[in-house]
Amino acid sequence: MGDVIQFKKPNLNEKFKNRGLCRSGFHKWEVQSERRFDVKQGKLVTTYRCARCGISKTEAK
Ligand SMILES: [Zn+2]
Repeated sequence: MGDVIQFKKPNLNEKFKNRGLCRSGFHKWEVQSERRFDVKQGKLVTTYRCARCGISKTEAK
């Protein structure tokens, strides 16, 4: 009794699969803030954030 311990969690597998997509360059970009003024670039940029892995990028218009 109690010998069988299950480590498998479907959620983890799904996360790993999604990470794989991200690593292949298929991020799930969502607009985080639109037309924010970026001081470094000196222009308006849109900030995107990946809903899966959490990295962000900015794109100048
Ligand atoms: Zn991602």
